[in-house]
Amino acid sequence: MALEAVEIGFGGAGRNVGLVNAGMWVMPREFPKALGADYGERALALLGGAPAVVWDTIEKHQIDCDPVHNGTLHCAVGAAGVAEIAERARQWGERGAPVRALSAEETAKRVGSNVFAGSLLDMRAGTIQPLAYARGLARAAIAAGAAIHTQAPVRAAKRTGAKWMLQAGEGSVVADWVVVATDAYDASPWPQGRREQILLPYFNFATPPLSADLQASILPAREGCWDTKAILSSFRFDRAGRMVFGSIGALRGTGLAVHRSWAKRALKKIFPRIGAITFESQWYGMIGMTNNALPRFHRLAENVIAVCGYNGRGIGPGTVCGRVVADHILGRIAEQDMPLPLTEPDTPALPAVREAYYEVGAQLAHAAGAWL
Ligand SMILES: Cc1cc2nc3c(=O)[nH]c(=O)nc-3n(C[C@H](O)[C@H](O)[C@H](O)COP(=O)(O)OP(=O)(O)OC[C@H]3O[C@@H](n4cnc5c(N)ncnc54)[C@H](O)[C@@H]3O)c2cc1C
Repeated sequence: MALEAVEIGFGGAGRNVGLVNAGMWVMPREFPKALGADYGERALALLGGAPAVVWDTIEKHQIDCDPVHNGTLHCAVGAAGVAEIAERARQWGERGAPVRALSAEETAKRVGSNVFAGSLLDMRAGTIQPLAYARGLARAAIAAGAAIHTQAPVRAAKRTGAKWMLQAGEGSVVADWVVVATDAYDASPWPQGRREQILLPYFNFATPPLSADLQASILPAREGCWDTKAILSSFRFDRAGRMVFGSIGALRGTGLAVHRSWAKRALKKIFPRIGAITFESQWYGMIGMTNNALPRFHRLAENVIAVCGYNGRGIGPGTVCGRVVADHILGRIAEQDMPLPLTEPDTPALPAVREAYYEVGAQLAHAAGAWL
């Protein structure tokens, strides 16, 4: 049984960019350093293979979520960006991943813009419509016999004998195991996974469908893109040919006007032929970042496991980590064989201050015209 406080996809799952990435921000060779040799290797294999599981899941359950498995382009900005993608290409190449660094010329052809100094093409990856994916997963779970209750916030939990009694919405549920999958949007009796994360706001603006001519010259192969800057931008087309363009920041207060104005100017800079830009919709959400940029499995109490901390990479990792936790509960995978250790949550220093810093910092950078 799943209990959801609001509705399916209310959290990051329904707000994200839709980039189905392989691996994490952490370079492949850093995994064993962060997790030890065994966990490092297993986590890297699991997360590197996560997009394949997403594509298979979509196919198996016929999820109508606009899957485009044509790769992603991690676009290099300046010499530092080129060095970063070259290193990523080298490290993934050592593992035989279908990833290669593209020259500025190849990148310009694929992106339809000459502002980038190169890019990393990852053919494991691609894009989806994320809310449709979340809803499709819920539909598949219901078809397989799961009960899903929305508008059912878990407010309290009590151990009674070998069971957990959860108070949710108007009712209560008795369970052998509890999986806390509330990530950055947690409002549950187990907030530890949320509290160890720093929340980074990220917004998206979507244009109306672009003209056929523009769609033919911009991302003709429909890769999903983001860049190597610290205050990064991302862009992709949706099925109707809308350009979905995003960056760090919250669309609230003064941020709304600052980020909208910046997004228009930045799009014009990247795609000078785009013409007058309007936005047909906009949204933002909170990305939960952990201190080593890797996801977490936590044991919060007896038979209570949290899985969280996807660092803006939740589509693939969330899909595969959910399976691992289910297999563990069903006795199919022993704790020591899991791809991530079951740990205690960390206590970060002053998260509220750092979160305000990111929100204000992104506004200042965009107001000052980063990219322009
Ligand atoms: C703007 C943005 C862009 C992103 N871009 C990408 C991207 O391109 N690619 C990618 O892979 N990842 C991306 N991410 C990250 C990704 O969306 C998240 O990692 C992922 O959604 C986490 O999934 P989840 O199911 O664990 O948590 P969520 O999707 O956040 O869901 C948590 C749910 O828990 C519910 N909840 C909270 N408290 C309770 C309670 N007490 N009782 C019951 N339910 C409760 C909430 O209502 C919420 O629906 C992005 C995130 C954001 C915000």
